[in-house]
Amino acid sequence: MKTQSLLMELYKNPTAELVYSVLTLDERFSDEIHEFSANVRNKVHDRVIHLRGIIEISNYCIHNCSYCGIGRECSGVNRYRMSEGEIIENAVYANALGYKTVVLQSGEDSYFSAETLGRIVQNIKKKADVAVTLSCGEYSLDEYRFLHQSGCDRYLLRFETSSEEIYSKMHEGQKFQERIQSLHSIYESGIQTGSGFLIGITPDLVSLTDDIMLCRSLDLDMIGCGPLIADPATSMKDFIFPFEKEIAFRTMAIMRIICPWAHIPATTAFDAFSPQGRVKVLDSAANVFMPNVTPLKFKLNYNLYPKKTSVDESAELSFESSKKLIESRGFITGQGYGHSIRKGYFQS
Ligand code: SF4
Repeated sequence: MKTQSLLMELYKNPTAELVYSVLTLDERFSDEIHEFSANVRNKVHDRVIHLRGIIEISNYCIHNCSYCGIGRECSGVNRYRMSEGEIIENAVYANALGYKTVVLQSGEDSYFSAETLGRIVQNIKKKADVAVTLSCGEYSLDEYRFLHQSGCDRYLLRFETSSEEIYSKMHEGQKFQERIQSLHSIYESGIQTGSGFLIGITPDLVSLTDDIMLCRSLDLDMIGCGPLIADPATSMKDFIFPFEKEIAFRTMAIMRIICPWAHIPATTAFDAFSPQGRVKVLDSAANVFMPNVTPLKFKLNYNLYPKKTSVDESAELSFESSKKLIESRGFITGQGYGHSIRKGYFQS
């Protein structure tokens, strides 16, 4: 099949076989794949890139994922937890800078009960005109419902890998089925649901195809993926990315082609993975950019992986430089909340 026909077939009727065929196409077809993906994104999202301000509210975590630099047993981490007042103030400040969404992200920190998070979300909503995304780990269906009633618009919870075996191996004490159940609960609570995986966590393209297809079958509003970069202080310090780098970028293009409606960020991990990595994802597939608005005194300590970029950049500077970057690539910076378009997409 010619590349254009293959990509069109993938767009219209995605199957694991087609995903695998595109993943294994020779490098000389890369430009064509990325161009196809960019056209899909431009058509569906009108060249609008949404800015979401990330606030890393705590680097405490009860888990000990094999690759993560802030896991429970990682030594040498300066632990911090922002107070409720600091979080709310930071969200108000992000809104004043121009953000219409704030993303509160943390390790799975038991201090942040659903009740506490709900109270924070309610107070943010009283004081700032922003949508709120949470990314703070697993809760029960009733707790997600409470968070939704408190004003939480979106929730991000990555499944990380579709392989149950790899999931349990790398996420000590956590169960793959419970993670998937949590995703269903988020969806059922009415919150817009985001998930994704670590590219390269599975060592071959057949399993990568499964990861990609799981995103599609979960029918997500948001898909966040990034290449696996292991922290040197973890047991995976010698991890080597198992594919050509192009595979990570191609994965994002395929995600865009098979989930055209999804909000897909160009994640920071791509910059640590490859020079100008985020820009490459922005050019090809993403419609979301997530600058960091965490106060400088905290963000230096939120190191999930090494070589994280822009850690010493102020929130003002991150906002301005991201806007400039978006516009210099011929995109429009989103002015609205950038809510899910999935339901509308299926109705149209
Ligand atoms: S990856 Fe997330 S859940 Fe796992 S140790 Fe790191 S912060 Fe905790």
